[in-house]
Amino acid sequence: MAKKSIRDISLSGKRCFVRVDFNVPLDEKDGQMVITDDTRIKETLPTLKFLIEAGARVILASHLGRPKGQRDPKQSLRPIAARLSEMIKRPVDFADDCIGDAAKAKAMALQDGGVLVLENVRFHAGEEKNDPELARQMADLAEIYVNDAFGSAHRAHSSTAGVAAYLPAVSGLLMEKELTYLHDELENPERPFVVILGGAKVNDKIEVINRLLEKADTIIIGGGMAYTFRKLVQGIAIGKSLYKPEWEPIAQAAIEKAKARGVKLLIPVDAMVTDAFDFDAKKLGNMKLAAEGQDIDPEWEGVDIGPASVKLFADEIAKAKTVIWNGPMGVFEIKEAAKGTFAIAEAIAANQRAKTIIGGGDSVKAVKKAGVADKVTFISTGGGASLELLEGKTLPGVAALNNK
Ligand code: AMP
Repeated sequence: MAKKSIRDISLSGKRCFVRVDFNVPLDEKDGQMVITDDTRIKETLPTLKFLIEAGARVILASHLGRPKGQRDPKQSLRPIAARLSEMIKRPVDFADDCIGDAAKAKAMALQDGGVLVLENVRFHAGEEKNDPELARQMADLAEIYVNDAFGSAHRAHSSTAGVAAYLPAVSGLLMEKELTYLHDELENPERPFVVILGGAKVNDKIEVINRLLEKADTIIIGGGMAYTFRKLVQGIAIGKSLYKPEWEPIAQAAIEKAKARGVKLLIPVDAMVTDAFDFDAKKLGNMKLAAEGQDIDPEWEGVDIGPASVKLFADEIAKAKTVIWNGPMGVFEIKEAAKGTFAIAEAIAANQRAKTIIGGGDSVKAVKKAGVADKVTFISTGGGASLELLEGKTLPGVAALNNK
């Protein structure tokens, strides 16, 4: 996607309004808000470092939580500014609002390489409504707009899209990487290109399946949505496994499209099944294998792929030159049903010849839990945004950026 990035423009001495994703989890301890996971701050550091070294004057903006247009001290970005300062070992200034005279004065006082964090953009009700006046006031602080908040790029809000109307608008390094791996690399992938899709619902993933059926050599389907496919293709009984009658025509169309395009569609051949499933309590009942060719008993439910499916999928993954994965193979939040998902994570990590891309959400958690995060090529930071990009949709936060 030929969008300009911070690499393509002159930054020295320029005030840059940088939209980042500092939406980190916080916990209240002794009346103080404490950051419990600073991954998202870490992920912005390459862009920050680049801007600082280029002599830009950095004004950071983000949302945090859902304050719904009200000021809420528990959702302030102040502790994040403090943590950032520790991380980059430089002073970081903080402005109590993301617009207005005080913020403007602090922005104007920045030196080259200086950093200012603005208060939560969602303290203004206009943010989520993409209010142009709010966007204009944010733009008033700066000379350049940089969007590095890929995880929010599927939302047309004032700070993620609106502000781009008033300033030269470019991507940060994280955004650029996301677009490279979730878009550009998939346009002309090195083949074989294997796509692995899992998760609960056929209807949630069908647009991704349809789009990637036009690019992939193989599509592997696992997770809860696989049972509709198994019923259709293998004619087996699926017991109480995830299934909706309205998913059948959707799955059938995908099966036919795969056939017509010569795409190999791989679905599970066996399943780990349980006779009791309580997701909230993270508890399963008795477990057994429903082996290849076998029906799933009426009161039992498939919660993971079985060993034969793991082997089938892993063999295909081993032959790939490009792999993208989105969605777990089973109910991986429960240990007894996580084996299939972890085995797939390991199979992906084991293929060191391939570009391996983990496309957001639960698969990212799975790769981290399986301990193989450092062995894959790219892990997306976006959930909804990755899925929409994979669906071929235009993300408002990306569309708003200047073309090369
Ligand atoms: P999604 O948000 O569509 O990617 O789905 C992720 C969710 O699908 C996870 O919470 C999994 O626990 C769930 N899931 C995966 N496989 C199954 C299955 N066989 N039965 C029920 N839920 C599943």
